Amino acid sequence: MQRRPGFPARLDGLQRQGPSMTKAAPAAPAAPMPQGMGLDSAAVRARMVQRLAAGGIDAPQVLQAMGAVERHRFVDSALANQAYEDTSLPIGLAQTISKPSVVARMAQLLLGAECARVGSLGRVLEIGTGCGYQAAVLARLAREVYTIERLRALHEKARDNLRPLRLANVHLILGDGMLGYAGGAPYAGIIAAAGGDALPQTWCEQLAIGGRLVAPLAGPGGQQSLLVIDRGAQGLTQTVLESVHFVPLKSGIA
Ligand code: SAH
Repeated sequence: MQRRPGFPARLDGLQRQGPSMTKAAPAAPAAPMPQGMGLDSAAVRARMVQRLAAGGIDAPQVLQAMGAVERHRFVDSALANQAYEDTSLPIGLAQTISKPSVVARMAQLLLGAECARVGSLGRVLEIGTGCGYQAAVLARLAREVYTIERLRALHEKARDNLRPLRLANVHLILGDGMLGYAGGAPYAGIIAAAGGDALPQTWCEQLAIGGRLVAPLAGPGGQQSLLVIDRGAQGLTQTVLESVHFVPLKSGIA
């Protein structure tokens, strides 16, 4: 079901569409654990990619990006052996790195933006850099990635994590992503890794025509759903997808 949202967009009374996250994923064999940073983790990642494909991710670019980015380098070394399981992991300051299936799902949704379908994905804004993992994945899918984080310690952690990857198209910003980031607007895609109970209007204003926003949004009961907003020449179209669990969107820098 699609509707034009009023602002601030809220989930009240909207119906869901699309697959439910509660649907059981096909059983997959347990992946062997990478032994810390020294091990060649390519095989373990390849198994993760197989599970993502079995779970419905079918965009080759997304599967390729998920297979290329070394998730274990973005988490604490004590957690490296869980890096390729489909689980969210703590990254400090009560924040978490999203599970691989959610990162892949959101990336695939971004590639569905009208302007990505007719060409390639141009500039993308990520709200919530966290440890920088998703930014590294997006860097392989979009021409430019602007990623904004409100917690200075995580902004710096992401910078350290991304430095060795030398991704010239990733721009790290310390700031309040509730205001979006005017510096890179308009965006072909905006992706939020934190969810509030209203969608900041600025995000939609910073979307290009043909652009797509993918963000978690909490409904009246606090339950979050994944929301897709497409900006067409005639206005905005909103689609509510499956239930998700993201850390809260907060304002200000800390
Ligand atoms: N994409 C990240 C996931 C990080 S978790 C990764 O791959 O690791 C979500 C992040 O959003 C947290 O780091 C949190 O601090 C940040 N966040 C919450 N509200 C924000 C805001 N208004 N602006 C920028 N970042 C925000």
